[in-house]
Amino acid sequence: KEERSLNFLEEIVEADLAAGKYKSIRTRFPPEPNGYLHIGHASSICLNFGLAKKYGGSTNLRFDDTNPTTEETEYVESIKDDVRWLGFEWENELYASDYFEQLFEYAVKLIKNGLAYVDDSSSEEIAQQKGTPTQPGHRNKYADRSIEENLQLFEDMRAGKYKDGEKVLRAKIDIESSNMLMRDPILYRIKHAHHHRTGDAWCIYPMYDFAHGQSDSLENITHSICTLEFVPHREVYDWLINKLEIFPSKQYEFARRNLTYTVMSKRKLLQLVNEKHVSGWDDPRMPTISGMRRRGYTAQSIRDFSDRAGIAKRDNIVDVGLLEFFVREDLNKSALRRMVVFDPVKVVITNYTKDEEFLKSENNPEDPATGEREIPFSKEIFIEREDFMENPPKKYFRLAPGQMVRLKSAYIIKCEEVIKDAEGNVTELHCTYIPESKSGEDTSGINVKGTLHWVSVKHAVTAEIRLYDRLFKVENPANEEGDFKDYINPDSLQVVKSVYAEPALKNAKFNEAYQFIRKGYFVLDKDSSTSGMVFNRTVGLKDSWKP
Ligand code: ATP
Ligand code: MG
Ligand code: MG
Repeated sequence: KEERSLNFLEEIVEADLAAGKYKSIRTRFPPEPNGYLHIGHASSICLNFGLAKKYGGSTNLRFDDTNPTTEETEYVESIKDDVRWLGFEWENELYASDYFEQLFEYAVKLIKNGLAYVDDSSSEEIAQQKGTPTQPGHRNKYADRSIEENLQLFEDMRAGKYKDGEKVLRAKIDIESSNMLMRDPILYRIKHAHHHRTGDAWCIYPMYDFAHGQSDSLENITHSICTLEFVPHREVYDWLINKLEIFPSKQYEFARRNLTYTVMSKRKLLQLVNEKHVSGWDDPRMPTISGMRRRGYTAQSIRDFSDRAGIAKRDNIVDVGLLEFFVREDLNKSALRRMVVFDPVKVVITNYTKDEEFLKSENNPEDPATGEREIPFSKEIFIEREDFMENPPKKYFRLAPGQMVRLKSAYIIKCEEVIKDAEGNVTELHCTYIPESKSGEDTSGINVKGTLHWVSVKHAVTAEIRLYDRLFKVENPANEEGDFKDYINPDSLQVVKSVYAEPALKNAKFNEAYQFIRKGYFVLDKDSSTSGMVFNRTVGLKDSWKP
């Protein structure tokens, strides 16, 4: 694999280790369990776990579950499945909600040091008093409450004496700061809501800014990596850690991973699911890890993609073709070759007199260890309708009247006669074969340019296939005018109910990748049952992306 230069986070880690700042590093991946993970999260996972792996550190999986109303246990399970599937192991499985008591104590410490106060203002009043980026804010009378009064009120908030929104706890930082987030940010709000883990134990919940950094610190996280929108939060992060005198975790930011022809926010993905534009979070067209897995993307290809797309300090959007390039590259090495005819026309080989024979064909020319399989051949075969032309242009190397082609792993055939129905549609092609032209032992001396895939009619098995196209018609639907859903591609799913496959596919396995020769990479879908197989096209064969 080609060497790439260090990214800026690797440079920071190497410098910290060289300076003896830490003996070893610790990172964390901190999903909020309010949706399924997507390819953007995959980049964050690869980055956090990858850094720790590379430098002999460790990574925690921490559920950032401080918002009781949007979080669910179903999401926790799917997140764990996805991280494991991507090939990473966490040191500890942790929940920010496990720190609620400790966080409460931290808040009490701030109050005791005169660094936090209970404010009775409404959120509108607070926003108004905070001012604007060009106009300083001003404190209200609640900022002058005594430490004793604040301690009592905060205890009362916890005890449930107040309704939602009646009071908040705010840090006393700098109401005139040029950073709006430093203008006495809210640390706690009242929310009488059931939490997926703590149940009804709490009716006050910490804000992101009072949970994330403190959780990092409690876990001795050395490098806390997040996305660019948290840059202005860093000042609050450092202020709180400093005032609480706890382990000095450091926050670093990189640009979110964006991909063309899709959307990446969980809120938007949830809309696609709820409004049934897709069949679920794991619909193969979704940019979710579970969707990509179902579609047949490999964990290796996603890791390679994340690494190659790299990390940036400025927002950007990466061509989905790059991801598909790595998917193809990986599948080319592992996929078993099979022949499947999507839109058949029957070929009768008039001079073939045997009942049937079994021909050998390699499973994967890239990997001889996968061996060979037997393919039945007989007098009647299917070829792809589009592989025949009655009046071909020059340099047409497929089948045409009087023209010869090779049938993959079988014989050379020549088209002798075209049979049509009353409307002029081609119903059958009558061909002859050259007995001496058998693949591997060809003594015919005939050279043909075209090779076609085919299946024997009487041995064929049928399957349904699902062909996917981009979910959106435009590169960046989130950036377009109006609703992003107006840009959904109505033709993103094409179903072919019955295709004809060589019998080896009867034993298709869920964890095996296939290349349908000349058609693309395919994987068995979970909708398959004993009564019928369903295959998803993972990706076509042709590359749109040039390295
Ligand atoms: P979304 O906007 O999709 O809901 P989020 O940031 O709210 O994303 P979290 O569950 O909080 O989702 O994300 C967990 C981690 O993954 C965070 O550290 C976050 O910064 C990171 N992350 C989320 N989306 C991306 C992305 N598109 N690219 C890179 N990292 C991401
Ligand atoms: Mg988040
Ligand atoms: Mg979010």
